[in-house]
Amino acid sequence: MYVICEDHLEQAIEEFVDVYESPPDLYHLDKVSFTDWTAPSHCDFCPRPPIFLVV
Ligand SMILES: [Zn+2]
Repeated sequence: MYVICEDHLEQAIEEFVDVYESPPDLYHLDKVSFTDWTAPSHCDFCPRPPIFLVV
């Protein structure tokens, strides 16, 4: 699972496909919520706030 800012979305998808060998599902972080999970405060690739969840 990746949390990703706008700039790194493409990179995250490429990594995901490399690791899991299937395309990820994309979600807007502000449209999803999980009871046991709080979105990290920054992108997995940089310090910016994340926009997307790639799972
Ligand atoms: Zn980023």
